[in-house]
Amino acid sequence: MRDDVAATGDAGRDAATGGARERATATGRDTATGAGRDAVAGTGPDAVVGAPRDGSAADGSAAGDSLSGTRVAVLGGGICGLAAAHRLARSGARVTLLEASDQLGGLGTFFPWRDRWVERFYHCVMPTDDDLLDLLGDLGLRDAVRWRPTRMGMVVDGRHFPFNSAADLLRFTPLPLHDRLRFGVVSLLLRRLGQGKDLDRLRTEDWLRGVYGDRVWERLLAPMFGSKFGAAFGDVPALYLWQRLGRESNVSVRGYPEGGYRAVIDALRASVEASGGVVRTSAPVRGLEVDGDRALVAVAGHGTVEADRVVSTLPLPVLREVADDGLARRIPDVRLPYQGVVNALFFLRRPLSGHYWAPVVRSGTDFDGVIEMSALAGPFDGRHLVYVMRYTDRESALYREDEGRIAARWTKQLVGLYPDLTSADVDDVRVFKAPFVEPVYPLGYLAKRPPVEVGGTPLLLATTAHVYPSVTSWNSSVALANRVVGVLGDAVRRGSAVHREPADRRDSADQRRDAGTLADQLLQGGGDPHRG
Ligand SMILES: Cc1cc2nc3c(=O)[nH]c(=O)nc-3n(C[C@H](O)[C@H](O)[C@H](O)COP(=O)(O)OP(=O)(O)OC[C@H]3O[C@@H](n4cnc5c(N)ncnc54)[C@H](O)[C@@H]3O)c2cc1C
Repeated sequence: MRDDVAATGDAGRDAATGGARERATATGRDTATGAGRDAVAGTGPDAVVGAPRDGSAADGSAAGDSLSGTRVAVLGGGICGLAAAHRLARSGARVTLLEASDQLGGLGTFFPWRDRWVERFYHCVMPTDDDLLDLLGDLGLRDAVRWRPTRMGMVVDGRHFPFNSAADLLRFTPLPLHDRLRFGVVSLLLRRLGQGKDLDRLRTEDWLRGVYGDRVWERLLAPMFGSKFGAAFGDVPALYLWQRLGRESNVSVRGYPEGGYRAVIDALRASVEASGGVVRTSAPVRGLEVDGDRALVAVAGHGTVEADRVVSTLPLPVLREVADDGLARRIPDVRLPYQGVVNALFFLRRPLSGHYWAPVVRSGTDFDGVIEMSALAGPFDGRHLVYVMRYTDRESALYREDEGRIAARWTKQLVGLYPDLTSADVDDVRVFKAPFVEPVYPLGYLAKRPPVEVGGTPLLLATTAHVYPSVTSWNSSVALANRVVGVLGDAVRRGSAVHREPADRRDSADQRRDAGTLADQLLQGGGDPHRG
């Protein structure tokens, strides 16, 4: 077993700290590289964003009319930036995508393991992920998603329970019988119980405690759903949970792309480049300023990129670090706390339980969820991939702890949790962290959500702070990218800086939501509170 091998997956954190350290100065010189921005703006290779292209490849599909000739810089090469770049490039825009890390994919990125690529963080596709599936269709990859029924377990006080059917619920002894019955009945009625309520302004804890009772909340729901938001979970609007039920209702079937998420990321890159776009990795944005109707993006090691429009997918705290003072003042002052994640990936010589997902409650582990990815994606080079995770603040002791120590301790804990597992079954373990995963939304966030436009500037925002009440996922990032490209197209057609997006478009995603019941998702293995 190699438990000393660890890596961090936090390009975002590097970018955040590096952004402060190496930020372009007021004179426009990049202190990290010494590359003079003034020397390249307007003349260097990056002065014109994207390669020249003829209009023939522009299908106009993304923003209505063609964006032919519009220079767009896309900041961040996660799924949101890639999806936006793909649509923009296909619409004729001259796109340059800038990604700080040496790999694309953001939270969906991967690492090499014995000649193959593996995702750092567990990911799956839900059948309700319409925007993502449309994008995959666009790329010719929709049929490459392999769907499988998945099952769920629960580990409570070190004991293992299947959690997939009414019979499983009846045998679920951590709750007294009458609470099990109440849990089942309330779950069936939960959707109706939420109707007519302003769930955006109702605390999750108040809602669920009220309908399920104190014991179900304290013994089951708070640990299960709370792990994602830490101590603040009870305060998160109940609408977020409701929305997640909508995404995952009636679902035990999940999907995983053939060739892994890397296949999707590679296809997006290829699409952008085929349309004349430029994709730069190892290109951290260190400065962003608006000069008249153009934007200047200072990139460490790459000089300055000049653009007519900028789409930023960077977490807002990172964007504030890189924006110059004038622009930073115009960025919406929404300061959400973010949960990060510490996640360990085990390469096991044997399967674990066959449950895709199992929350772990009061069982003496630091991690509070186990994802057996091989139950969905199948074995990987003869190894069974198991992720365990703990969502936590990026300032927490766990987040700051050395990866090797986490790997060693979590290996012991995993072996202790599964009686048939021995340390000899653990071939390898890797630890990855990400600092900005889940914004912790306050009550009433529907009204506080920042607009995607930064009024009167060429800057558009497409971040996880914008996807609420949708859950953070590849699907909601793709939907957001589509929306932002639409706003950008409107602004280009008007020949203006971006203005406020019409409320009807902003709310259209919300109107599509359709909540299922907690019973649907819990009893059918669809409710993974660790899923974004
Ligand atoms: C453990 C875990 C499990 C998940 N499971 C699922 C799942 O099963 N299904 C699902 O759909 N979603 C899942 N998600 C959520 C999903 O990964 C995210 O919602 C999605 O990837 C967000 O994409 P994004 O492009 O908005 O942001 P990010 O992926 O964070 O991309 C932002 C990019 O910006 C880059 N960047 C930062 N600073 C700079 C800078 N200064 N200059 C240039 N670039 C910069 C970063 O390196 C990053 O690549 C999971 C997430 C985690 C952490």
